[in-house]
Amino acid sequence: MINDSARKDPGRYSILEAFCPPLPYGRQSISDDDIEAVVEALKSDWLTTGPTVASFEKAVASFTGSAEAVAVSSGTAALHAAMFALGIEAGDEVIVPAMTFASTANAVVFQGGTPVFVDVDPDTLLIDPEKIEKKITAHTKAVIAVDYAGQPCNYDALQAVVKQHHIELVADACHSLGGSYRGMPVGSLSSLNVFSFHPVKNITTAEGGMITTDNPELASRMRLFRNHGISSDHREREAKGSWYYEMVDLGYNYRLTDIQCALGLSQIRKLSDWIARRQLLALRYDEAFELQDGISPLKVGPDVSHAYHLYVIRIDSDVLGICRNDIFYALRSHGIGVNVHYIPVHLHPYYRNRFKTGPGLCPAAEEAYGEILSLPLFPAMQSQDQDGVLECIHQIIGTS
Ligand SMILES: *Cc1c(COP(=O)(O)O)cnc(C)c1O
Repeated sequence: MINDSARKDPGRYSILEAFCPPLPYGRQSISDDDIEAVVEALKSDWLTTGPTVASFEKAVASFTGSAEAVAVSSGTAALHAAMFALGIEAGDEVIVPAMTFASTANAVVFQGGTPVFVDVDPDTLLIDPEKIEKKITAHTKAVIAVDYAGQPCNYDALQAVVKQHHIELVADACHSLGGSYRGMPVGSLSSLNVFSFHPVKNITTAEGGMITTDNPELASRMRLFRNHGISSDHREREAKGSWYYEMVDLGYNYRLTDIQCALGLSQIRKLSDWIARRQLLALRYDEAFELQDGISPLKVGPDVSHAYHLYVIRIDSDVLGICRNDIFYALRSHGIGVNVHYIPVHLHPYYRNRFKTGPGLCPAAEEAYGEILSLPLFPAMQSQDQDGVLECIHQIIGTS
């Protein structure tokens, strides 16, 4: 990847040009057909609660091999709807991994429940099924598993744990749309599977989310929840020629618009190609780091097709003589948009204050937090850009 003559000449990259404009860690791909689809939706009769919402739901259900899909306004709303559908309430505990975006745990709190943080496997940063067992109490109602970076969790082990203890499993698959586990598509691996369509995710609707399920009762509870708890939507009432409706539960306005669903429908057609591109770029990173002491990509299990929302490396500062933070700032100063995913949720002030969490609770996640770095990875990223990132890393760690 990096040509050898360049490596032998230490002076060659001593003044690397910065990326201009900066290279982000993740970025949406929007093409003319996406724009046309959105314009069509704007010209149609329905800007929200219309037929394009149903079409996008159908497309996601079919892509993920699930019976039902419920579109909502964000991945966070999708997690909240999942907690509502399972009846999570005050006094209930829901097990969540420490290494995730805060909203995985926040959704439990929205419903009045208590998130119980479980540590991750240091090799993959996925929730450790064995550690889950030790945290289960009489109050435990569910586990939310996060397919960190796009790698599906060990769902066989997770299903065994939740079945044995008669609790529910939710997949936070916000990173892993387009991946699979033992040949089964992400979205079909759990009774509720949650997606986000934020621009950095595998497809986008600007903001947006979805829950897939094979359970029609859970699906109809979530349809109610996204529409104020009202048992019929505007289109259904129009069709019946009636004004009457009933609010039967407390819900929210978590609807996704037809404009956004038109974008999503156009995007999902390209998802398989984009995942293939992400996997190819990940493979190029893997090859570049294979013989590099002190830089370790996360491990990937044998049973998965990894969707590579993120490409995460761990930095061993003892070996490299330079720490993660210094590498982070050096790359940023070269216009390379590296990032850190994530600050363990139990270390955030809100959780420390409200749930008395703090350092020591999940040591593997805490140790990883000091060493992880997400490198740029998105479908439109060029191999030359990737080579530039690698050259810059080699210069920073003194191996160029
Ligand atoms: C992005 C993300 C969310 C939240 O999705 P939004 O659409 O931003 O609300 C939740 N969990 C994980 C793991 C995510 O990456």
